[in-house]
Amino acid sequence: MDYLENAEEAAFRMGVRAWLAENAPKDWRARYPTEDDLARLHREWQRTLYDGGYVGLSWPVDYGGRGLSATYEAILNDELGKADTPRISFHNYLGRAIFTYGTEAQKQRFLPPMLRGEIQWCQGFSEPGAGSDLASLRTSAVLDGDHYVVNGQKMWTSGAQHADWCILLVRTDRDAPKHKGITCLLAPVNQPGITVRPIHISDGSPETCEMFFDDVRVPVTQRIGDPGAGWRIAMTVLAFERGPADVGLIATFQTALAKLETYAEERAIDRDPQIRQAIARTYVIGEVLRLNVVEQLSLRNAGRPPGPDGSVARLLLTQAEQALRSLEFRLRAADAVSGRAPDVLANYLRSRTISIFGGTSEIQKNILAGQVLGLPR
Ligand SMILES: Cc1cc2nc3c(=O)[nH]c(=O)nc-3n(C[C@H](O)[C@H](O)[C@H](O)COP(=O)(O)OP(=O)(O)OC[C@H]3O[C@@H](n4cnc5c(N)ncnc54)[C@H](O)[C@@H]3O)c2cc1C
Repeated sequence: MDYLENAEEAAFRMGVRAWLAENAPKDWRARYPTEDDLARLHREWQRTLYDGGYVGLSWPVDYGGRGLSATYEAILNDELGKADTPRISFHNYLGRAIFTYGTEAQKQRFLPPMLRGEIQWCQGFSEPGAGSDLASLRTSAVLDGDHYVVNGQKMWTSGAQHADWCILLVRTDRDAPKHKGITCLLAPVNQPGITVRPIHISDGSPETCEMFFDDVRVPVTQRIGDPGAGWRIAMTVLAFERGPADVGLIATFQTALAKLETYAEERAIDRDPQIRQAIARTYVIGEVLRLNVVEQLSLRNAGRPPGPDGSVARLLLTQAEQALRSLEFRLRAADAVSGRAPDVLANYLRSRTISIFGGTSEIQKNILAGQVLGLPR
């Protein structure tokens, strides 16, 4: 993305790079081996980044951000990816819900500690019978004085076992059309009536969770937006989740692909035309993704909020990551199955989940067909 940068942005990139060389945790995968260790590291790392002035770059200054353009966020993500740092919280897209729809009191209460890494969130949208068809969700919230009483089950709530708060979609009006009867609440995860059970995904990690709600009381002051506004809020969150916020992954992708090319060259397996084609195909998908992200950034800087065309980036990201990890597995299958490189198998299995979370690839294509291309249903 360097060719987008003006002198100030280029100087910012150099500053980030120098700062990361001093401050980024080294050898962190070995030093923080368990999920609990990693959750602790993510909080600590976010706080270090925040203290360095590198969290919430594009957020309003009033809420702890720096009010910079989306390009700065992209440069930072690019450098974080290149430096292979731990990840930080999902604040960029969950925070949008609060600063777009929250009251002033809610913004002051949640946004600054969210940036500092003191509040970790999880996203309680999907349910056993409501994934692609999210508007069918059934978890209910009934008003009782100045509280909602929540009952039901959420499914696939990633990171819930380490989260402090959950952004929750609930049904508050059973008689309204299904998209209109949904409301958005913020609930602390550690409170009476909430049970969190981790789900181990195909690579064995407890990546995501089931959440059960039994008569959980949530104050009305923790409702985001009006009653019935939950669908609109969810679509804002998902549009940001599908957008160029993922840009740091491009640097990770490019580094991983370069390593695989070297691996193939050193063993002369790159003379096999099928391997050469697979490397070239993976490279091309990565380049198309990068150019799409650059285009999305330009649109964002011109003031256009993310919309349904974010699904293009999401599909490209899925294709790029799955092509990369398939290639890695193909080149290093012996290492993977013999246990010499367990991360190769884990990366491959994990890449299969990208076409599911945040909306499946089929749903992304439906969005593009209906909302971008205007095709009939
Ligand atoms: C690792 C992981 C992490 C996740 N994290 C979260 C999270 O943090 N918070 C959260 O709320 N959710 C999360 N999810 C849930 C995710 O958003 C849903 O799994 C996803 O939306 C699909 O819903 P579903 O699993 O109910 O499958 P279904 O909706 O039942 O879909 C099953 C299949 O049918 C296809 N299909 C369904 N409807 C259509 C249609 N109209 N047209 C064409 N094909 C269709 C789908 O593409 C899919 O292949 C996560 C999921 C995974 C796997």
